[in-house]
Amino acid sequence: MADQAVPTAAREWHLAARPQGWPTPADFALVEAPVRQPGPGEILVRNEYLSVDPYMRGRMNDVKSYVPPFQLGRVMDGGAVGRVVASEAEGIEPGDAVLHGAGWREYATVDAKHAVKVDAQAAPLSYYLGVLGMPGLTAYAGLLDVADFKPGDSVFVSGAAGAVGSLVGQIAKLKGASRVVGSAGSAEKVARLTGEYGFDAAFNYKDGPVREQLEKAAPEGIDVYFDNVGGEHLEAAISSLKVHGRATLCGAIAQYNDTSAPTGPRNLALAIGKRLRLQGMLVGDHAALQPQFTAEVAGWLRDGSLTYDETVVDGVENAAEAFIGLLRGGNTGKMVVRLGG
Ligand code: NDP
Repeated sequence: MADQAVPTAAREWHLAARPQGWPTPADFALVEAPVRQPGPGEILVRNEYLSVDPYMRGRMNDVKSYVPPFQLGRVMDGGAVGRVVASEAEGIEPGDAVLHGAGWREYATVDAKHAVKVDAQAAPLSYYLGVLGMPGLTAYAGLLDVADFKPGDSVFVSGAAGAVGSLVGQIAKLKGASRVVGSAGSAEKVARLTGEYGFDAAFNYKDGPVREQLEKAAPEGIDVYFDNVGGEHLEAAISSLKVHGRATLCGAIAQYNDTSAPTGPRNLALAIGKRLRLQGMLVGDHAALQPQFTAEVAGWLRDGSLTYDETVVDGVENAAEAFIGLLRGGNTGKMVVRLGG
């Protein structure tokens, strides 16, 4: 069954060039493409929110990684939520809200097996791209499972005003951390960390050496470091971690646009004597935690114990700018693109 209001063509973003260093708008092209009606087992979705995420920067490079690179001259993809406008799939009806992976476009024809119905009554649709979605599970699993957080731990998180980081710090507080310290890139973000998010201390990493600022903010040292940034932050955390400290290596955004190989943490040998555990993570490995995560985080949202921010950019035509803005720190909380209609 098709919806009469569906246009025959709609806009989608293609990768126009592979960036060297920082991406620019010229690396992306907004293209008009036919809207394909669904075949058997497929649904047609009018996207309402598109996700832009740091990992997409890696996909712009032509290198093998845990997600395949975007193809030059082809439509990009990524998380999106929207409403089904036509369905040839059992169990999904026009009007249903779904989360799927065909973002960066206004309309998506997707295999229903790759779409998940979400409850638009329980939360705003965009939350399924953030606090109730991939970044939320990353924070939850990365702290509780990977870093093996225990009540009483002292926790440091970088990228702390972003989608993942803001949740890591708040979840640590809710779970009984003795101290939570965060770093972010502006005075406004730092104020939000110690204000609405309830961190015990926070600093702007642009104000001076991270190591000195962290030592001041956590004079007794830290048990857990949640790394979203890499580089100088990771080196500082290795210095401040206590014996048997644990670090979740979640992201290294400080080096995503580097054109030369980064120097590793120069103090890595400290990990030997301190018996540190530095553990990489990929959120996809933690799907088994999803039900527990959803129940607990949705409960915190309902009772107001978790603050969740979004930075909303309007219009599909602004998606590339939103993505570049995310890499430059233009967001507080989750960066999403809202589509009209
Ligand atoms: P954020 O919402 O945190 O947005 C990115 C933020 O990074 C910006 O707002 C900016 O904030 C900060 N940033 C940019 N450049 C630097 C820099 N040089 N030094 C320090 N901070 C910088 O994004 P997400 O919450 O979605 O992702 C956070 C991290 O988690 C990323 O590294 C991402 O790749 C990773 N990730 C990993 C997953 C996994 O499975 N391993 C899954 C999801 C995310 P500021 O103004 O503070 O500089």
